[in-house]
Amino acid sequence: MSEKRPGPPDLHPDTIAVSAGRPPEAPGAPINQPPVLSSVLHRGSDFDYGRAGNPTWTALETALGALEGGHAVAFSSGMAASAAVIGIMGPGIKILAAEDAYYGNRNYLKHLDEGGTAKVTSVDISDTDATLGLADGIDLLWLESPSNPKLRIADIETLAAGAHERGAKVLVDGTFTSPILQQALSLGADLVLHSISKYISGHSDVVMGAVIAPDTGTADRLRQQREMTGGIPGPMETFLALRGLRTLPLRIERAQANAIELARRLVDHPRVERVLYPGLETHPGYEIARKQMSGPGAMLSFLVDGDGDAAEAVCARVRVIEHVTSLGGVETTIERRARYAGETGTPENLLRMSVGIENLEDLWTDLNQALTE
Ligand SMILES: *Cc1c(COP(=O)(O)O)cnc(C)c1O
Repeated sequence: MSEKRPGPPDLHPDTIAVSAGRPPEAPGAPINQPPVLSSVLHRGSDFDYGRAGNPTWTALETALGALEGGHAVAFSSGMAASAAVIGIMGPGIKILAAEDAYYGNRNYLKHLDEGGTAKVTSVDISDTDATLGLADGIDLLWLESPSNPKLRIADIETLAAGAHERGAKVLVDGTFTSPILQQALSLGADLVLHSISKYISGHSDVVMGAVIAPDTGTADRLRQQREMTGGIPGPMETFLALRGLRTLPLRIERAQANAIELARRLVDHPRVERVLYPGLETHPGYEIARKQMSGPGAMLSFLVDGDGDAAEAVCARVRVIEHVTSLGGVETTIERRARYAGETGTPENLLRMSVGIENLEDLWTDLNQALTE
């Protein structure tokens, strides 16, 4: 990864989200890249067969790469993107991973460890000293900030510098922030992973992922992995993802404004024990979040006063808010994460909310009635 990173584009991200990845201007040409629903394309361009490339992917990758400040490679899911990263790192790698990383990734890394493909240790990545203390001899530091579901903040710049001194690469799962709130390559990360299924597509109608690398060499190796192992996104999904990305800055802005206010009100709610949100001054990662993110985001967790059943009852009572899994859509969702067997270390009474773009008072009225027994 020696190649120079592409410099920061001189347009504001709000503008890049709208204008990047459009087809060349020509009389009668569409201004949007249409979904190319053809598995075979005539020779004479970069495209010939649909597992190797599709113009729809290129349009999305251009826009996403421009927003993140690197070269994007799209995959059929966030997990296919994770698998491609492991694929280019090769067998026998030593990984130090966030102990509360996304459950699917933790499970995948555990599986690799048990099968002998990788050696995986985990750590609280909000503890910089503890993390670097375990980083000697590792090949890859796997970060997620804010983390899921505890909203822990990792000091990405310090950790990346420390990892690089030790010869390790750094991956940041940026799903919770999207490139609008955090650009981890500029903080020193070597790879950024996104589940496009969440904020980037933004309407809970697509499953897709991406990895963004600062250099074309790494991006080419990721593409090669995609072609060899077949974790390719469908043209229709890719079209929807780019359509969603056009409004990403607007959606984040509105959802975040709702989240900031809901977090504030929840802090004062008699049935709430604690609120975990990096936008609150009481959050241990508040200062670092302010430094490395352009805003605290729209994911927040809170501990209901009571046990797991009491928290589950709150989920059962919401009417406007959706009691479902996943995150990053226009709709507000709520879920008790400890309901999943693999979610070890998560308090039984923790509810994770992905705050959407609905009217704030409607959300508060709903949440308030759900919290009132
Ligand atoms: C959902 C998610 C993933 C996995 O992405 P899929 O698109 O579901 O495969 C990875 N990381 C985080 C933080 C996620 O929320």
